[in-house]
Amino acid sequence: MSILIAKTFAYVPYSKFRVGAALLTEDGEIIKGANIENASYGGTICAERTAFVKAVSEGKRKFVALAVTTDVATPIAPCGMCRQVIREFCSLDMPILLAAFSYLEKEDGVRETTLGEILPFSFGPEDLERDRG
Ligand SMILES: [Zn+2]
Repeated sequence: MSILIAKTFAYVPYSKFRVGAALLTEDGEIIKGANIENASYGGTICAERTAFVKAVSEGKRKFVALAVTTDVATPIAPCGMCRQVIREFCSLDMPILLAAFSYLEKEDGVRETTLGEILPFSFGPEDLERDRG
């Protein structure tokens, strides 16, 4: 249910497109995030990044799952920038649940994927440790 609650406080005066994210920490805590728009559109922060920024700024860096939902009838995946932020803190096989608006009522309302599936051939923190020519 946290996933539905997460989008409650979305601030979306421009797009009217609410997104909620629920990030499950290794110790079982759920960190919620909502998208926060800005009149200077580039200042907008997605729900997924809101959840990560909240968690990491409170000392939580180990996550085991992420769920994302919107008001759309089909599951929607995180944007490219959020995928890269997820990559910073999560393993490629971490489950990501994409929940449609009415996911509780539809058999195919939740699409389960992984970070590796939605961000193939990715760049991550370990790449900065590689030998340089
Ligand atoms: Zn995003």
